[in-house]
Amino acid sequence: MKPISYARPHTVEQAVRTVTARPRTVFLAGGTTLVDMLRTGAMEPDNVVDITWLPLGGLEHTPGGGLRIGALATMSEVAAEAGVRERYPFLAVALEKGASPQLRNMATMGGNLMQRVRCAYFREPGNACNKRDPGSGCAAVDGMHRGHAILGTGPDCFATHPSDVAIPLVALDATVTVWGPRGERTIPFDEFFLLPGNTPQLEHPIAEDELITRIDVPALPFAKNSHYLKVRDRESYEFALTSAAVALNVADGTVVDVRIGLGGVGTKPWRARTAEGQLIGKAATAANFAAAAAAEMAAADASHPMNAFKVVLAQRTLVRALESVRPQVNPLGGAQ
Ligand code: SF4
Repeated sequence: MKPISYARPHTVEQAVRTVTARPRTVFLAGGTTLVDMLRTGAMEPDNVVDITWLPLGGLEHTPGGGLRIGALATMSEVAAEAGVRERYPFLAVALEKGASPQLRNMATMGGNLMQRVRCAYFREPGNACNKRDPGSGCAAVDGMHRGHAILGTGPDCFATHPSDVAIPLVALDATVTVWGPRGERTIPFDEFFLLPGNTPQLEHPIAEDELITRIDVPALPFAKNSHYLKVRDRESYEFALTSAAVALNVADGTVVDVRIGLGGVGTKPWRARTAEGQLIGKAATAANFAAAAAAEMAAADASHPMNAFKVVLAQRTLVRALESVRPQVNPLGGAQ
């Protein structure tokens, strides 16, 4: 490992100033992604700025009924918070389904959004990878790509976005606030992640000297009726093959409102707007759930042999997730 300089500022302004002043500098929070990347040589910064002493932790419920999550709040802290569990259960479940307890105790919410893809060719220098080395090619096309994406793909890259918690957050229309030398700005969650296009090395619309300070989640009363379903090869410590974060509002058997995020299938956290649009105003039946899931997957890229199974698996995952939050029909009449 090559020598790397280390700084530990105590204010956001100092942290940003340090990154601005030194080229090839990255922020270090929980370290659960960055340290791996440094070890393999997939990232080679000259300097790291440890931000764990900055006052960016905590979580609060806002007067309007929303949630404000500090960038340095840990995954376990947010998952355990009583109000999150009651008002946004799919957020808590998605957090608990990610990584391992040890990692969740270290990993921060801001770091989770900035984590890099798990494509093995990206993480192992020596393989062609347009994301790590633009223009070098994509070793995954003719290599192992069982876990890769089927939505938002392009010829230059089809690595899957790995976060679980980003899936309910995109469904909730959360926002990400960043602070940098040009001041503060707030970015809608869906725009915080870029499709690979022909610049797969760019994953976010922020500059290297901008730091995530918080995530805001708007009020969504029907998110009380939500679920995160994750399908994976083993039940623990594994990334999603497919996942669905759903919140459903049904009245008299009709879908009044619905939010859907899909994971394991997109090059970014996938907001299933086609499926949502197709369900609103329709009867909350398994047949309509299946039709909406099929409509969402109509744009899926099934051209790669090892991951084409995800097109069907994602539809089944979404239908099952929606069925799990659909009000049960009372055989004596009415809904339970
Ligand atoms: Fe690199 Fe993306 Fe290809 Fe993986 S899928 S090797 S990250 S370009």
